[in-house]
Amino acid sequence: MSQEMIKVEKLNKSFGNLHVLKDVDMSVKESDVVCLIGASGSGKSTLLRCLNFLEIKDNGKIIIEGDEVNKESHDLNDIRTKVGMVFQHFYLFPHKTVIENVMEAPVHVKKISKKQAREEALILLKKVGLADKENVYPSKLSGGQKQRVAIARALAMKPDIMLFDEPTSALDPELVGEVLSTMKELAEEGMTMVVVTHEMGFAREVADWVVYMHDGKIVEVGHPEDIFQNPKETRTKEFLDSVL
Ligand code: ADP
Ligand code: MG
Repeated sequence: MSQEMIKVEKLNKSFGNLHVLKDVDMSVKESDVVCLIGASGSGKSTLLRCLNFLEIKDNGKIIIEGDEVNKESHDLNDIRTKVGMVFQHFYLFPHKTVIENVMEAPVHVKKISKKQAREEALILLKKVGLADKENVYPSKLSGGQKQRVAIARALAMKPDIMLFDEPTSALDPELVGEVLSTMKELAEEGMTMVVVTHEMGFAREVADWVVYMHDGKIVEVGHPEDIFQNPKETRTKEFLDSVL
């Protein structure tokens, strides 16, 4: 049986009076691609952000690779080394070149040599199809290229798990495909991935599991063919009818 990479048990998170995550349970096994879908405001980003400790849960358990993680007992940088994240709005360092963006965390967080970081960064830039852009500044790139740099930058820490929060939502439609195909390649290489997306085609094609969230709760989990063709829950069906 493949290893459980992420296990979430009864996770709760509130912002003030707003109860955003309500007893969320989730399990992600090695090499799984999980697509998290649901309306805006349902808690998808908060769930991802809790998984790499950009938000601190109120209660419940987060178990990463068998290890229950707490901010009190863990160096959160270690967790973020295992769990990479890609955001809707790239967040590249504007004053650094493409390759410097990719080298930054390995050099400053992992303390590897610049020479080695540069070699590894180049391999990653090739992988995302941007080797020719190594010395360019982000402002010269298209949104799709920026997002591929952001993916390379996350991969540079050699994470075991990658989280994607609407990685294509800020892109012009013609640039969505290049980012999705980079993600698909990563999935095919066996990366464990949790992807918040509105790209139902991607979810249908690449996901092993689709998780539908509504109002802070996981309403339904299933294989894409079941979720899209035969959702069990009325809420799931209504959501899919509204987006498909
Ligand atoms: P989704 O990603 O599904 O659109 P979010 O997780 O971003 O949903 O947000 C869920 C709810 O939590 C929303 O009502 C949002 O306004 C609220 N929220 C998210 N982050 C914060 C925050 N840092 N402070 C206060 N409220 C927040
Ligand atoms: Mg969100």
